[in-house]
Amino acid sequence: MKNIGMTKDYSCEYFNPEIETMTREQIEALQLERLKATVKHCMNSPFYKKRFKEAGITPEDIKTLGDIRNIPFTTKQDLRDTYPFGLASVSIEKCTRLHSSSGTTGNPTVILHTDKDIDEWANQVARNLWMVGLRPTDVFQNSSGYGMFTGGLGFQNGAEKLGMLTVPAAAGNSLRQIKFIKDFGTTAIHAVPSYLTRLKEVMDQEGIDPRRDTKLKVFAIGAEPHSEEQRKRIEDMFGVKAYNSFGMSEMCGPGVGFECKEQNGLHFWEDYYIVEIVDPETLEPVPDGEIGELVLTSICREAMPLLRYRTRDLTRVLGRSCPCGRNHVRLDRMKGRSDDMMVLKGVNIFPIQIEKILMRFPELASNYLITLTTDEDNDNMTVEVELEDLFTDDFQRLLDLASRIKRALKDEILLTPHVKLVPKGSLPVSEGKAVRVIDKRKVYQ
Ligand code: ADP
Ligand code: ZN
Repeated sequence: MKNIGMTKDYSCEYFNPEIETMTREQIEALQLERLKATVKHCMNSPFYKKRFKEAGITPEDIKTLGDIRNIPFTTKQDLRDTYPFGLASVSIEKCTRLHSSSGTTGNPTVILHTDKDIDEWANQVARNLWMVGLRPTDVFQNSSGYGMFTGGLGFQNGAEKLGMLTVPAAAGNSLRQIKFIKDFGTTAIHAVPSYLTRLKEVMDQEGIDPRRDTKLKVFAIGAEPHSEEQRKRIEDMFGVKAYNSFGMSEMCGPGVGFECKEQNGLHFWEDYYIVEIVDPETLEPVPDGEIGELVLTSICREAMPLLRYRTRDLTRVLGRSCPCGRNHVRLDRMKGRSDDMMVLKGVNIFPIQIEKILMRFPELASNYLITLTTDEDNDNMTVEVELEDLFTDDFQRLLDLASRIKRALKDEILLTPHVKLVPKGSLPVSEGKAVRVIDKRKVYQ
């Protein structure tokens, strides 16, 4: 990736000043222009050509941004049905890379990229990393798996474009990660939040104090839902600012949304995407501030733009201006995906609600696992959570702690789960996204 950062003024807060500081009117004018062009371009794909015909619309019918609502939604199922290349809007000859989603919820899906797509993607990631204060003088270590998962090459290309010295450490092997952090003077790391707590455990075992022994100052954390409480914990553990990073293979990968220094929500880049929040049942738009499903239209992609893609992620609009000077929409941290929702005894529960409560107890470490079972005809939830320190000699204290956790969980989720306190390091840690829920119930609801 071409190092663009070297030629920039390091004191400027913006990587793409003109785009980042656009007024709402300018953003919307650019979006309309790009939406019209994208819709025309999509007619090269037999899939969209047919979809438009069925819906009785033509690209010329898109005259205002509001007209986007006449375009049918695209779903993950559409990607699966047309697997692998059926949604391409260019010939395969023009494509230079494919990625595939990690398949957290079902079969993988394939996303194609042209050279231009890869370059625009890197621009988004570089913009984000610059926004939180990183410059070519920084050393960036990426602890994502490389390969099909977009967190690897996505951050790699973006960090190179910004011009940092990049350390493609890839996932796992914490001792090696720590050695790199120390030897290379790493100042920034990209990681899934669940991995950072594991890394800190290994630092503790090795007698390494990140404040004293490293130059770390910025974390980009994302790829999985996490609570504000989890972020604060990570920041306190390391003495490092942790910024939420939202990515999704179908849009490109990491880079789609990122927090600025204000940490007041994710700026979604509206020169690249049109953001809609809809009611997942009626599919009608919900007012700003209300939670709904995030729907994204990529308006700056060549190989495989997606129109009104239903992400399944639940969030809400927080605002369309920010003290940082960027007017690109700010979205709340993801509550989870609609398919992460557990339905227990008729109550809807998201894993993140449980995490939020657990993280409030200083006696608890950060790793937890929720197991759902059926006994006779009753659904049960067991929350296993690691203890920060073992105080097994004080049985009464453990019992008290468990019942305080139960009560706090009941206040949040309206059900009383079983709570099991386990020693630190005893729950499984995955190399990529954390697995928080195991559903062993006889009947899926
Ligand atoms: P998969 O769909 O197989 O998990 P992706 O790597 O494309 O593959 O994952 C994208 C999804 O990851 C998003 O739709 C969202 O559910 C989740 N995700 C990514 N970043 C975040 C984040 N910062 N907060 C919450 N969820 C996130
Ligand atoms: Zn901002």
